[in-house]
Amino acid sequence: MHEYAVTESILEIVQTEAEKAGGGQVESITVVIGELSTFVDDSIEFYFQALSQGTIAEGATLIFEKVEARAVCCECGMEFKPTNIYYSCPGCHSPVFEVKQGQELYIDNLEIN
Ligand SMILES: [Zn+2]
Repeated sequence: MHEYAVTESILEIVQTEAEKAGGGQVESITVVIGELSTFVDDSIEFYFQALSQGTIAEGATLIFEKVEARAVCCECGMEFKPTNIYYSCPGCHSPVFEVKQGQELYIDNLEIN
């Protein structure tokens, strides 16, 4: 359900950027989602369709780009790919690690005509 709030922010950014660009029609929006983020692209898509009605972004295509998860163990320094945030290091089984990438959610590109 938190996708609703995040979709509202995406739409706000898109509208601001589109106005800056001269107020053309938004063709596509590329949204980057990290593998470990809890955001569901289908839900964002769903809310986007509803929220964008009557705005400059109505009818725009949402393109989702997934970012692979990467983490570094704080104990042994091993780099690995966690499947969730409760993972433990495959080298030393320490549950303490730093996520380097995979938790992000941001707009990477906007195509405006
Ligand atoms: Zn380790």
